[in-house]
Amino acid sequence: MNRRDLFRWTGMGLVAKAASAAGMVTPGEEGKAETDAATDAQEAPLSLEDYQPRSMLRVPETHVARAKYPVIDIHTHITDAKVAKNGVGLSAARAYAATPQELLAVMDRKNIRSMVNLTGGYGSGLKETVARYDDAHRDRFYTFTEPIYEKFLEPKYSQLQAEAIERAHRDGARGLKILKTLGLYLRSNITSGTLVKIDDRRFDPMWDTCGQLKMPVAIHIADPVAFFTPTDRYNERYEELHNHPDWSFYGRDFPKFMELIEARNRMMARHPNTHFIVLHTGNYAENLQNVSENLDRFPHMTVDTAARIGELGRQPRASKKFFDKYQDRILFGTDASPHAPDVPQQIFGDRLYEIYYRFLETDDEYFDYAPAPKPPQGRWEISGINLPDPILRKVYNENAKRELGLVS
Ligand SMILES: [Zn+2]
Repeated sequence: MNRRDLFRWTGMGLVAKAASAAGMVTPGEEGKAETDAATDAQEAPLSLEDYQPRSMLRVPETHVARAKYPVIDIHTHITDAKVAKNGVGLSAARAYAATPQELLAVMDRKNIRSMVNLTGGYGSGLKETVARYDDAHRDRFYTFTEPIYEKFLEPKYSQLQAEAIERAHRDGARGLKILKTLGLYLRSNITSGTLVKIDDRRFDPMWDTCGQLKMPVAIHIADPVAFFTPTDRYNERYEELHNHPDWSFYGRDFPKFMELIEARNRMMARHPNTHFIVLHTGNYAENLQNVSENLDRFPHMTVDTAARIGELGRQPRASKKFFDKYQDRILFGTDASPHAPDVPQQIFGDRLYEIYYRFLETDDEYFDYAPAPKPPQGRWEISGINLPDPILRKVYNENAKRELGLVS
């Protein structure tokens, strides 16, 4: 038995040390065996959560401090519902994650023209948000409204919801945001009962009203595909799901991932005059072929990049082709949330934007997709796609300007 066999056999460095002491190691190898064994004895077994390998790769590192062109971040969360139950926001009142001043300091440094705050709510909360951000700092902030799920059981909900969109439009909302609440949390009795489907007819007047008012619908359905598979050794996002078991949509009464995509598609097919910004790269960044097919099928669909550069950057050649082919249909988004330690890939700040810019503007290889000590969405690194200037300009701001109806 040689030394390597012994290791494989027992899985313990300690035995190797014993073997070495017993003279089973060939002369010349002895010192090395002792060092290995000592290290293994101290550190084994290393738990997965403690594993933080440092890459020995020496490749160019480009620091992109400012975006090459002014940026509109189409996907941020500056405010949030103050009251929520079982994943359903239930109050007009907003919680404010950051002051305009805090945000503007980063925006000015990073060449961010505007942030689109998707979770602006409705009613008094929406009005207050528009006053504090949009009106106080013209063209630096835009706010979207959200459905009033707390009124979902009222007999005339459909009509009431369509009217609420009109009111929100008058109050300054630029679009409608749909959280994954629809499809994964909202239930027949709001927080209990059976799950309400994305293509439920009761929402049809809401989608149509958005189309009539030229308010784009920013829609997030589903989540990473891995969240719909068991949290086991084969799950590529095991650590993330292990840390947040409530993020798993596997089992119980949850629909399958593709059922959500299909319900969304049936709904979009019924509303060809409404613009849909399908967030998180069409909700299926793991499968750009699927996203491409949907973009081809639905001319009223665009996508954003939010919280998915980890996916786009691990398939940089496919991504580059995707950006080239759909250069008029991709909007820059990050899902930036000020002070959100649970989601390091989304923490609003200089580092977050520098990573996005590096991905879009350089051909750097093998770098972190999130400002975090460990890759939080899966153990891999990303490479840049070095977009040409005309595409960069479209992705950074021109496509968003068109969807938001901005003149300049
Ligand atoms: Zn988001």
